[in-house]
Amino acid sequence: MLLPNRRGQGFFRRHWFNDIIYMFANGIVVRIGFILLITAVANWWGPAPHGFVASLPLWLQVVAAYVVADAGVYAAHRSFHAIPWLWSFHSVHHSIEELDWLATHRVHAADQIILAAAAYLPLFVLGFTAEAMAVHAMIYTVQSYLVHSNVRVAIGPLRHVFATPHFHHWHHANHVEAYDRNFAPSLTWLDRLFGTLHLPDAAPTRLGTDDEVPPDYLRQLAWPFVRRQRPEANSAGVTVR
Ligand SMILES: [Zn+2]
Repeated sequence: MLLPNRRGQGFFRRHWFNDIIYMFANGIVVRIGFILLITAVANWWGPAPHGFVASLPLWLQVVAAYVVADAGVYAAHRSFHAIPWLWSFHSVHHSIEELDWLATHRVHAADQIILAAAAYLPLFVLGFTAEAMAVHAMIYTVQSYLVHSNVRVAIGPLRHVFATPHFHHWHHANHVEAYDRNFAPSLTWLDRLFGTLHLPDAAPTRLGTDDEVPPDYLRQLAWPFVRRQRPEANSAGVTVR
């Protein structure tokens, strides 16, 4: 039986319809944006070099792609938290106060395009085959839905390797000690390696951000361009979210 990670949350939680709009609207915007971006890089870089990496068996390419793409997304995601203007895009995703599979979609279009680029441009430049990137993209998509879902997934010691909903819910926690932690999309050891892991046994009690992100799609799209600058840090040197 599937147990919820956080209890007391219904299917039709607040702002679910707004996230349905994200599911359809961003799907198109992000695909067009990403195709334009990868076309520009392909023109600049030339044909993908089908050398050593492409000669590896598919399963090994997928494993390697997992590490390369995760490192790329880790760096980009951490930048989204560290650089105030980038945070204004990413704060839309952190405005989620009840996590479920649908909340996966509430990501500003620019945020999605940059994170997709951080995952797939390194794979493209390193010469991974289209098949390997497609298999990785399928796993990555399933995992994105899973880590946002309100389910408990117990994988024992493997939690030190792979992201679970518990790990990613702590990334969304509105608890001071959890700010700017758990950036990796799939491989939790990246956070351990770079000192950003936060993984208590209990689930977080409060999700979201203190930033006043508006509740609807169009105003969230405009939010990074109209928001007031937030204070950078409080007196304790802790970033205010
Ligand atoms: Zn984040």
